[in-house]
Amino acid sequence: MFIDTHMHEMTFSKDSFLRLDEMVRIGKAKGLGAICITDHDSMGLREYAKKYTERTGFPVFVGIEFFSLQGDIVALGIQDYPKERVSAQEFIDLVKEQGGVCFAAHPFRDNNRGLEENLRVVKGLDGLEVLNGSTSPEACRKAARYARELNLFTLGSSDCHVPEKVGVCATYFPEEVRTMEEFLAVFKKGEMKPAYFSDGIYHIWDESF
Ligand SMILES: [Zn+2]
Repeated sequence: MFIDTHMHEMTFSKDSFLRLDEMVRIGKAKGLGAICITDHDSMGLREYAKKYTERTGFPVFVGIEFFSLQGDIVALGIQDYPKERVSAQEFIDLVKEQGGVCFAAHPFRDNNRGLEENLRVVKGLDGLEVLNGSTSPEACRKAARYARELNLFTLGSSDCHVPEKVGVCATYFPEEVRTMEEFLAVFKKGEMKPAYFSDGIYHIWDESF
């Protein structure tokens, strides 16, 4: 199944123009089987998303995009997070203590919010977002090279803030996941693949270049 693993909903991401029901509608039409809401430094949508999933049956996983002192990290499967900025390592350690997973968001995007060379320094990161819907192809290819070199899982996500971007990139999960427990179990096996939407379907990104 395909899951968009990094998306912003407008209630808690002030730079987003998207409401959850619209995100699900567009995502489903593209073929997504689940979505992840990862708002900036907030997990405020948790309760709403839980009720939404109970009502509709469509899995919405709420994580966070945390702006650490070294750059953005997306985490899922956690309950608590720092209320102020802490180092990337401190955040990763907190995620691991809670049994969650985390990946570097757009590590080489030119907005000074990627981990960049800190990727080589931090310990415990699970993966890298090698396909990001708002990042240049060069920066995506560089991320893929680092993922190979550092032996990190590779993910794709839209990082959407507007309707046109919902689901433009996604991550292929080789098993169906309906709950956060299942999501984490499959994620930790690391067999996901980055994908992009084109000509009406998702394509696995071939990173062999
Ligand atoms: Zn983001």
